[in-house]
Amino acid sequence: MDNVRVRFAPSPTGTLHIGGARTALFNWLFARGQNGKLVLRLEDTDLARSTEDSATGILDGLKWLGLDWDEGPDIGGPCGPYRQSERLPIYKQYLKQLLDSGKAYHCFCTPEELRSAKEKAEANQKPYAYAGTCRDLSPAEVSARLEQGSQPVIRFKMPSTGNTIVQDLVRGEVKFQNELMDDFIIAKADGWPTYNFAVVVDDYSMRISHVIRAEEHLSNTPKQVLLYEALRLPLPKFAHVSMILAPDRSKLSKRHGATSVQEFREQGYLPQALLNYLALLGWSLGDDTDIMSSHEMIARFNLNQVSKSAAIYDIEKLTWM
Ligand code: GLU
Repeated sequence: MDNVRVRFAPSPTGTLHIGGARTALFNWLFARGQNGKLVLRLEDTDLARSTEDSATGILDGLKWLGLDWDEGPDIGGPCGPYRQSERLPIYKQYLKQLLDSGKAYHCFCTPEELRSAKEKAEANQKPYAYAGTCRDLSPAEVSARLEQGSQPVIRFKMPSTGNTIVQDLVRGEVKFQNELMDDFIIAKADGWPTYNFAVVVDDYSMRISHVIRAEEHLSNTPKQVLLYEALRLPLPKFAHVSMILAPDRSKLSKRHGATSVQEFREQGYLPQALLNYLALLGWSLGDDTDIMSSHEMIARFNLNQVSKSAAIYDIEKLTWM
């Protein structure tokens, strides 16, 4: 495959969870097997929750696992280093493009107004959706409010009819009804972009060919597809990897054993053991292979073999110390 460029994009708000480590591993295997590049991007626009300790911990965990990257926060690149917190001017440029073309708008509704609309919807047992109150404010009105010092959010104008189709390499065609998505916020009142907007600008400007990430982001993908279209940008390919669940199919948590790379490291597991275990969570090789070197994994990894159904985490199976 030509010019494969993938990315791992953790938010530095906690430790490197095994789910994140597996996403990083699948991206790494795909990049290395296709003679491509792996970009590491720290998604740290949530300034209140992002910490330098977390960023260092995530980078250390990846290094310990032997998952190296080609462009990232400590390497730089044509438009790096890749920390979203250093890319505000780039996001602003694309936000302006959407505002100028009328595909996004300033919204001055206050948090109190939105909260009360939400409470009303809940009381009537209706799903809450933003009512579009600020959709058609005149340019003069918007300018006047901006001059008064109001700090609006920016919302994307969702098409109210039709479907958005996500072509997913793991899940096939997934259809989303546009009317079930409201005019979502793409920039907060402090000027910083939200996840859905920043990720589109970054994946495009970092020339990402394949977005391989956790299933929890699948419901964000139609919003991202619509943003690509509104900005007239080419779409990357998407592959959403299934969740890792506990043996009882509940959400994985501390009570199911170690869940962060750091914990495995402290307990004395070898990185190769953890890597093997993670590789086989959600990747079915079609035989009973359970131990592979990194070289073998790279040679055999294939997105077509990534499973649609949830992977079950069973610590008992990780015994090779
Ligand atoms: N920063 C997101 C997360 O940590 C990842 C987003 C993505 O891969 O698109 O969940």
